[in-house]
Amino acid sequence: MEILCETSLVREMIEGAQSAAPREACGLLGGRWEGEQLGLQGFRLLPNHAAEVCKFEIDPLDFLRAEDEWSEQGLAVCAFFHSHPRGSTRLSGIDLRGAWEEMIQVVCALPDMAEPSLAAWQVRNGHASPLAFKAEGR
Ligand SMILES: [Zn+2]
Repeated sequence: MEILCETSLVREMIEGAQSAAPREACGLLGGRWEGEQLGLQGFRLLPNHAAEVCKFEIDPLDFLRAEDEWSEQGLAVCAFFHSHPRGSTRLSGIDLRGAWEEMIQVVCALPDMAEPSLAAWQVRNGHASPLAFKAEGR
């Protein structure tokens, strides 16, 4: 299983993570599965409604709006995005407990503002497996 993500979306995720720090940024990614490959073609940075610093919470209405708009383009909401302003790209215990199994988790880590890194995970039965994540195109 691998993920291909438009380069412009990678840039938007990194910018979102940098501007939200020291809080976590969050958002949704829209895409399409083709066999074992997920092509990500839409990104929406959304307000983080969590009161705590090391958490993220997306408004269900924002989720429904993204789902509606993307479905017109033949895309589904396929992944949650969030950032770890100080940590690594590994999912935290809170992330694992809150993960939906049918959604991919994309994390942008900013151990250093100048060196962002991205990783994608699939969570099954409370365990996260890393997925190949490649940026391509514009
Ligand atoms: Zn997290």
